[in-house]
Amino acid sequence: GKTQYFRDTWAEIDLDALYKNVKTIRDGLPRETKLFAAVKANAYGHGDFQIAQEALKAGAHGLVVALLDEALALRQKGIDAPILVLGLIRPTDASVAARHHISVPAFQMDWLKEASQAMESGDPPLKVHIKCDTGMGRIGLKNEKELKEIEHYINNNDSFELEGIFTHFATADQSEENYYLQQLGAFKKLVSSLETPPEYVHAANSAGALCHNDSMFNAVRVGIAIYGLSTSQERPPHIKGKQVFSLHTAIVHVKKIQPGECIGYGAGYQAKKEEWIATIPVGYADGWLRMLEGQRVIADGHRANIVGRICMDQTMIKLPHYMPVGTKVTLIGGQGSDEFITVEEIAEKLQTINYEVTCTINFRVPRLYK
Ligand code: PLP
Repeated sequence: GKTQYFRDTWAEIDLDALYKNVKTIRDGLPRETKLFAAVKANAYGHGDFQIAQEALKAGAHGLVVALLDEALALRQKGIDAPILVLGLIRPTDASVAARHHISVPAFQMDWLKEASQAMESGDPPLKVHIKCDTGMGRIGLKNEKELKEIEHYINNNDSFELEGIFTHFATADQSEENYYLQQLGAFKKLVSSLETPPEYVHAANSAGALCHNDSMFNAVRVGIAIYGLSTSQERPPHIKGKQVFSLHTAIVHVKKIQPGECIGYGAGYQAKKEEWIATIPVGYADGWLRMLEGQRVIADGHRANIVGRICMDQTMIKLPHYMPVGTKVTLIGGQGSDEFITVEEIAEKLQTINYEVTCTINFRVPRLYK
């Protein structure tokens, strides 16, 4: 059944915006290029099942996730599109992945041998994408010799089907292109040394797909851009999507305080004059982190500022004037007035990147879809 919530703090996920973002990105790609939507980490905090469904409706060909568990959860909810796990799975879990038609990365002989042993009779072949490390330094093989060995092993073992080859860029969102071009060159060289190119050859993330026109191969893995968030300020793409994520709450208590009165732990804020202070039921245990002290929010269309330290479950804001209990307060996004808070504004305040903001708003905050 549907989970019922008894709190007035929620993240609103604009599926219309997601659909449009995916469609716009899809339409901007060469016709033969397949789009894999990155829905790992609960779709960057947006809700993986709903995002996966909408992205596929909008023209995504498949999905990428980080973990086998994430892929299985989508299969269990009935998603039957191609899914590629990006991180290494345990070789002993090869059978589980194969049975659910989940593709996985591979690049080590030992891993393949162990995985082959773990496969059970009757399992369909495990679909693998050979991962190449061309400069990210994370996972993957690095030279043609290893690649040829792996290709040969996979092609001569019934446990496996060679479905793809891929790499990942470290600097596709930067204006300086040397490192990117080096990675691109290394990948092209590896791909051309294959005996038979597999079905999917892919390298580009959002920045690769939107800020460069030479890294498409025949598939791309797009995450941040489908959520309407920017790849980077340094190399902004020509396509600007609409922010899918917004975060809202409502005032639960309002009071007028006198000059000299203090707010919050450490009595960290002191009123200079008579002020209207409201309490909102959101705090650092929701992922609304303490570093957001002082951040502006939007109360009934007006700007208000967080005062005092953010508590585990509650936060206090200074209102421009009296507002009743129940007034909607927006922490990320807008309310139709001139004020709008981007995910990037919150990221800047937290000295981090937009990706981390939506991922950090956690399971305590229900996602509502519209
Ligand atoms: N491909 C890989 C291997 C990734 O790790 C990620 C995410 O970090 C992506 C694609 C999607 O990247 P982005 O969200 O920048 O489009």
